Amino acid sequence: MREMPACDYQPPQYEGPTRDAVLATRLQYCNPAVFTYYKEPLMIVDGYMQYLFDETGRRYLDLFAGIVTVSCGHCHPKILERTQTQLAKLQHATTIYLHPWMGELAKRLAHKMPDGLDVTYFVNSGSEANDLAITMARLYTGNYDVIALQNAYHGGSPSAMGLTSHHTWKFPLPQGQGVHHVKNPDPYRNAHVDARDIEDAIRMGTSGQVAAFIAEPFQGVGGVTSGEPAYFQKAYETTRHYGGVCISDEVQTGFGRTGDHFWGFQNFDVVPDIVTMAKGLGNGVPIAAVTTRREIAETLTQRLHFNTFGGNPVSMAQGLAVMDVIEEEGLQANARAVGGHCIEGLQKLMSKHTLIGDVRGKGLMLGVELVRDRRIKDPATTEAMAVVEMARERGILLGKTGLFGNVLRIKPPMCITKDDIDFALDVLDEVLGKV
Ligand code: PMP
Repeated sequence: MREMPACDYQPPQYEGPTRDAVLATRLQYCNPAVFTYYKEPLMIVDGYMQYLFDETGRRYLDLFAGIVTVSCGHCHPKILERTQTQLAKLQHATTIYLHPWMGELAKRLAHKMPDGLDVTYFVNSGSEANDLAITMARLYTGNYDVIALQNAYHGGSPSAMGLTSHHTWKFPLPQGQGVHHVKNPDPYRNAHVDARDIEDAIRMGTSGQVAAFIAEPFQGVGGVTSGEPAYFQKAYETTRHYGGVCISDEVQTGFGRTGDHFWGFQNFDVVPDIVTMAKGLGNGVPIAAVTTRREIAETLTQRLHFNTFGGNPVSMAQGLAVMDVIEEEGLQANARAVGGHCIEGLQKLMSKHTLIGDVRGKGLMLGVELVRDRRIKDPATTEAMAVVEMARERGILLGKTGLFGNVLRIKPPMCITKDDIDFALDVLDEVLGKV
C-alpha cells in the first residue's frame, strides 16, 4: 500500500475554536438544511493545491475540489497573489463604473469560445447563470417552453430548481414552469435514448415552439452520465428546428476538466448558443458567467438588468489569474493525462471488485457507479457511503452522487499528479475489498 505523496507545504498550527464548538455553533445558528458529509463532520481549516488539512494538521488528498470548483489548486500561490493585490486596492464599486478586469475576463472567455459566442454577463453562482440564460433564451426566441434532461442538475433557485430533475433537490413548490424533462442519454441505465424524445415532447407538450434546450455535457450531480455525440447533435438540430436556442451548462465541465477540450460541449461536436459557467472559473471565489452571441445578449437591454456583485474586481482578478494558470501550467493536458491514468486504474479495479458496475467520464470528471448485482444494477447506496467514509479515514476525500447516491465522484483540482492517483487507487482497492 502506497503512502500519500509528499507535500512541501506545512500548515501553521490551528488556533481557532475546537471542532466540537464549531459544530455546536453551526447546529444552533445555521439553517439545518446546510448539511455536512461524513458521520463525524470533517473540519477543514487549510488547503494547498490538491491537499486539504483539518484542524489537527492531518492532510487529505482532495478528489472532490470543493465540489468541482477548485480547478487549479487550493490557495494556488500565483492566483492568491493576484487576488490579494486586488483585494488591497479595490473590492467593490459595481459595474456602474468602469474597471479594467471585467472586460478583460470577458475577452479571455470569448477567445476560448467558438466564433460568435463573444459577449459575457457575470453573476455569482451557477444557478443565477442558468436563470439568466433561460431569461435570455425566452426573450430572444419569444417562446416559453424549455426542454431539459432527466437526471439533470442546474441549480437550486426557483427557476434553476425547475430545470433540475432529481426529486432529492426539488421542493413541492411552484417551479419549472414551462420545463419539460426528456429522458437523458446514459449508456449504462438508459441505453436506447434517442433525441427524437425531444421532438415528441415539443409536439405533445408545447405549442410547437420552444425557447431552449439546456443540458450538461456530462451530468455532474446526476452521476457523470453522458450521451453519444449523435445525441447532442440531433438534440441541437431539433431544438433549432422548433425555434429554440441551445444552452450548454458548463458549470462542472468547463475549463479543461474533460481533458481533450476546454469546454464539455466540444466533446460532442456541437456549438451552443448560450454557455453558462461558474465553479472552476473562480477556483473558489463566487463567480459565474453567461456567454452568448451579441443578438441574444441584447435582449436584456429592453429593461434594466443589474447584479450587485457580478463583475466585481476581486472575482474578476481571480478569474483572470485562473485563466492564466490553466494555460501556463497546462492543466487541461494534465486533466487528460492524469484522468486517463485514473480511468485505466479504475477499470483494473472494476475487473477485481464486482461492486463496481461502471467506470465513466473523461479527463478529471470521473464517476464510479457501485451496484450490488451487475446484471440488475441494483444501486449499492449504503456501500457507496461506506466507501466514502473508509476512504476519508485513509486520507482520501471523495464525492458521492447520482439519483441513488451510489456513484463515487472523482473530480480533483486539475493539478493532481499520477502519484496522487496511484495512492487513491490503492486506497479504493483496499476499501472496496472491505465493504
Ligand atoms: N449547474 C451545474 C451543472 C451544477 O453542478 C451546479 C452546482 N452543483 C449548478 C448549476 C448550480 O451552481 P450553484 O450551486 O453555484 O448555484
